[in-house]
Amino acid sequence: MIECRNLAKNYGTLTAVSDISLHLREQEFISILGPSGCGKSTLLRLIAGLEVPSAGQVFLQDKEISGKKISLPPERRKFGMIFQDFALFPHLSVEDNIAFGVNGSASAKQQRVKELLKLVSLPHLAKKMPHQISGGEQQRIAVARALAPRPRLILMDEPFSNLDYQLRQQLRRDIRDILKHEGVATILVTHDQVEAITFSDRVLLMHDGKMVQSGTPEEIYQHPQTLWASSFVGEANHLSVEWEATALNSPFGLLNVPADIGKETRILMVRPEDFVLESGTDGKSNGIVKTVDFSGSVQTLRVELKNGETIQVSGSPHLLWTPEDSVKITAERYLCFDSAGNRLNGCSSARISK
Ligand code: ADP
Ligand code: MG
Repeated sequence: MIECRNLAKNYGTLTAVSDISLHLREQEFISILGPSGCGKSTLLRLIAGLEVPSAGQVFLQDKEISGKKISLPPERRKFGMIFQDFALFPHLSVEDNIAFGVNGSASAKQQRVKELLKLVSLPHLAKKMPHQISGGEQQRIAVARALAPRPRLILMDEPFSNLDYQLRQQLRRDIRDILKHEGVATILVTHDQVEAITFSDRVLLMHDGKMVQSGTPEEIYQHPQTLWASSFVGEANHLSVEWEATALNSPFGLLNVPADIGKETRILMVRPEDFVLESGTDGKSNGIVKTVDFSGSVQTLRVELKNGETIQVSGSPHLLWTPEDSVKITAERYLCFDSAGNRLNGCSSARISK
């Protein structure tokens, strides 16, 4: 339903967003994820019509709504917007806040408000003023207000950032269910990888104004396009490797990798959960456990390899290692990256030869 083609936005000499293309399907949830200052809010504002693009176009159902000559005003795009700072009208009651954007007769309005208060599970707060309800409740009401005029798209900019951790998780699940129930497409802007991964069908990863990768949360986690992406989304170990005649020489021995890929590979990326640890007492040791952090469901170790590099390894808490344990460590799954930090296709989860 929404398409952005080669969108760019400059502020003077600063390029906030450059060459971004994306498609959003009906009822789809996507997250725009990236570090602070990477251009997420600017991109959202370009889609909302709150900013005019320096280049590129935005289409809504195949009709251009932003471009060189065209700029459909935000209110005519019929998108619902939810921001970090709740932004309810302070002088209106909860029900009047929700009714604000609804067209139609008084009874139709009343009906819609009732329905939405029920949907956000807050019918008892109808008569309250915004300052009389909690932050989490205000954000639920903001969602109800955004949904009231039956928008085709909801745009959310870091909507959960001002809430404490527990509440944030609960509210994220609830709001996701509410939006899915209403069948409205949603774009969520966030710098929080867990939030992006748990909330959306698809994640668009941004860095320095550019789109690094777009894919399902699993694709981004399991097949990051760049080394930067591998450590922005999840924990990643980056290990130097070298091609030697017929195999890739790694801290875990020689790896069988196709020659064309192996020759280009400079860095091996391994997730902490993709290592296998065995006791290294029989002389096959290639690492020493340095620290052990036990956090309930997982155990995280820092292991110093023979070459002096330190890696992070996570595993079952039932295997209890202690510092200075000598271990034999292998990588069950890994990805190969070239000297520019880009992933080389065709090399994943290859087996270790010895
Ligand atoms: P994010 O939401 O990812 O934190 P923003 O889109 O807000 O990033 O900002 C991207 C870059 O553009 C930042 O360097 C920011 O300072 C700059 N920027 C954003 N809005 C403006 C503006 N109105 N004028 C000048 N610079 C801006
Ligand atoms: Mg922002």
